[in-house]
This record gives sequence, C-alpha cells and structure tokens, in this order.
Amino acid sequence: SRHPTTSSLPKRQRVGSGKESLSFMRRRMRRLAAQWAAAACRLDERLRGQYREQKRILVHVGFLTEESGDVFSPKVLKGGPLGEMVQWADILTTLHVLGHNLKISLSNHIGVRIVAFMLVVTPFLCHIRVIDTFGTEPAYNNEEYSTLHGYRTNWGYWNLNCKQYMTMFPHTPDNSFMGFVTEELNQTERFKIKRDKVNNMAVVYGKEASMWKEKLLTILHRYMDIHGTVYYEAQRPPEVPAFVRNHGLLPQQELQQLLRKAKLFLGFGFPYEGPAPLEAIANGCVFLQPKFSPPHSSLNHEFFRGKPTSREVSSQHPYTEQYIGKPHVITVDFNNSQEFETAVQDILKEKVNYPFLQRPNSTALIWAPNITAPACWPPLSALQLFLSPEASSCVKTCRDSGLICEPAYFPFINNMEYTCEAVHVDRRECFQQKEPLLFSCAGVSAKHQRLCPCRDYLHGQVALCRDCL
Ligand code: UDP
Repeated sequence: SRHPTTSSLPKRQRVGSGKESLSFMRRRMRRLAAQWAAAACRLDERLRGQYREQKRILVHVGFLTEESGDVFSPKVLKGGPLGEMVQWADILTTLHVLGHNLKISLSNHIGVRIVAFMLVVTPFLCHIRVIDTFGTEPAYNNEEYSTLHGYRTNWGYWNLNCKQYMTMFPHTPDNSFMGFVTEELNQTERFKIKRDKVNNMAVVYGKEASMWKEKLLTILHRYMDIHGTVYYEAQRPPEVPAFVRNHGLLPQQELQQLLRKAKLFLGFGFPYEGPAPLEAIANGCVFLQPKFSPPHSSLNHEFFRGKPTSREVSSQHPYTEQYIGKPHVITVDFNNSQEFETAVQDILKEKVNYPFLQRPNSTALIWAPNITAPACWPPLSALQLFLSPEASSCVKTCRDSGLICEPAYFPFINNMEYTCEAVHVDRRECFQQKEPLLFSCAGVSAKHQRLCPCRDYLHGQVALCRDCL
C-alpha cells in the first residue's frame, strides 16, 4: 500500500466490519459503466474480425481478504486510502470489459494457496502477474542475489521475470507499465468546464490535515480561495486553517465537480503517486507539487524503507512531473516560499487546458507474446545501443538520449561480440550477466559502465516503439 498506516495495523482485525471498500469499488464501476461500454464498442470496432483469446483469470485481491483484516474498509468513509481501491476497481472492470473469464478471490483459503502453488511449480510460474505499487527491481526480485547483497525485503525475491510485476506508473521499464484510468470529457463537457472555471479557486490534495502545510496555505490564501476534503467528525472539527473551506470527505463524483471548478490542485508531498492528481489534471486543474531534493528513496526515507526498489522519487508524483509537465504540472521547491508564490502567480495567469495523458496501448499489450518467452517483442529493429557513464543506470542513459531502456533486448546484447566492442576501449575488461533474472534497466554500480539496450517510443505510448504497430 502507499500508506504507512496499513502496514502498521495488526494483521488480524475484526472480520466483516462492513465491506466499505467493496461498496466504494462498486460505486466507481457503476458510475463509469457508460464510459466503459462506449470504450468497449470503440475497441470492438477497431479489432473487428481479429481473433482474441478469452483467458481464464483468477484475481486474488490480497489486501481486501478477511484474513489480512481488510484494514481498508473501516477507513474508507473516514479519509483512509482510496487509491488502491480505485486501481482494483479499474483492473477488474478492464478485464471484464475485454471479455475475459474472471474468478475473484477475496479469501486466503483459496487465493493464497493457488498462488503459493503456482510459485513453486515451475510451469505455472509464468502465469502469475503481480499488481505492484512501487515496482520491483531485478536486484530485489532475485532471491539469491537479494539475500547475498542486502536487497532482501518483505516483498519480491520471487524469482519472477520482472515484467510480471505490473505497475500503475512506469516506475522502471524492468516492470510492466499497466496504466491507469482517467475519465474522458467530450467537447460539450470541456466547453462547460472552461466556462465555469473559477480562476482563483484551489483544492488541497490530502485527506488528512497532517498532510497540509499551513505556512504555504497562508501565502496561497492571498491569491485564492482554498477548499479541502479532510474527513472530520461532527464533534471534532479538523485542524485546518479557518480560511479553508473544508467539505469533509466527498463521494468521488462530488470531488470531481469540485475539481471541475477549481484552477489549482495543490499537493504537499503526501500521499505519493496517487490517482487524484490525474483526475485533477483531466478536469483542467494545474497540479502544483513539491520537488524532493534530495529525492526520496528506500535508502533515505522511512516511508520507502523495505520497498523492493532503489528508485529515487523526485517529487510527490514523478509521473506527472516527467510525462505531463508544464503547464499542467508545476514542480517547485516548497522550502522556498518565493518560488512557491511565483508558481501560484503564474498559474493564475494560465488558461485552462487539457493534456494528452500517457496511456498504454491495450491492444498491443494484451497481444504482446508471452512476456516470459524468449521470442523478442518489441522488434529488434528498434534497438539502439549505448554505453552508460559510470554509476549511471540504463534508465537514465536511455532517457538522456530521448529513448527508453528495453529489457527484452538484454539477452541479445549480452554476448562478447556486443559487450567487448562497447566496453573494451575504456576499460579493457568486460562482464557478462550470467543470471538472466538480473538483467536490469534500473541497476547502477559505481564501478561499471553498462551496455544499455535503448529504443525509441511513440509519444504518449511509451510501451510501443515506432515500428511496433
Ligand atoms: N477521493 C474521494 N473523495 C475525496 C478525496 C479523494 O473520493 O474527498 C478519491 C479520489 O477521487 C481518488 C481517490 O480518492 O480517486 C484516491 O485519492 P488519492 O490520490 O488521495 O490516493 P489515496 O491516498 O486515497 O490512496
């Protein structure tokens, strides 16, 4: 989970304490049903006549099981984490709409046993897909390596192919970028939103007052009316400044209405990487968020400690920072009040706009050949080879050239012909990777220069190369 509270709660809790988490998911599915149906029809039109396999899929929603206490349900109505439920609701709907045959398990009796069985019986291992919030880097996934080199955490070390870990944002190309859902606005809705926007209205991101920073709010208040959605109980008002209009926790639809009016959505650094900023941007808000300098990671930040990744998180929502950016997303140093104030002034001058959101191409991804098979996809013709500087990952090396690291190519370049041609000149020594599970886009080592398999990608669809379609 993206929230520390959930992991510190006792493993076993009262069973059957209402199933608010499921009701929340059901409400979201119902609300978006018409949009899903329209999207399904569009896809059907595009794919007409093409054969698609109906897969039998067991979805085990581990965090909602009774045995794990369903720690989410009691908090759903009280400002607890909802991002995970948004994600699960959307995954279940996607699989259903695509026509697959689903069985959903909310019980460890069945689900965990089947998954545990698949983990130890090799032919089944490649059928597992793991929904992974933070991403799992190869060094943490390989049991032997992680144990010997201090990368072992409570997660990972399952010796899966790292592409079997699926993430909502493209944390590292070693994992699969599954994507996320944002609501679509038609021309009429866009027109209405533009017409009704209130230029000096801001909504604060964060359902708990502890996530807020009062000093910056005082600055913001000089320019804008501030709204919040902090949960509170009638007898105990929340600790937000008096000038804030707090609505309490809102149903998703009402939050949506609020975002449609607002010009600014302001994050204070927590929660990390949630869906709410995407909703705000899709509704024509500018998302203003703090830059983290130095970046937060499992090496320097309590929240990320023990997560199976060394990824450096550069802001509250690095995806929006890197893939959407200005003018929709402004990332500044919040320790510098002047910088913050200037950002607010700039946002007030900005006109409402709608971004093109990065999305994975479901057609290509569903049909991409079995990710654990040796067949090469995307096509090898897209490969571009780079030698990284020392202490630089292939993620960075490729990105610096406007490309993306493609782990599917590692087996093709991990041979003497390529390796030595590239590395010999400077170092006179070259190393090959003996363990395919340790091929890594994310990996860094101070002593080595890495040979990086990069490829180009379609703007807005990072999963695909230019010649992939
Ligand atoms: N949300 C909501 N009512 C509110 C505030 C948020 O329904 O008053 C929803 C919001 O639409 C988003 C979800 O909560 O889809 C998750 O929000 P967030 O990004 O804050 O992630 P979380 O911390 O809840 O996991």
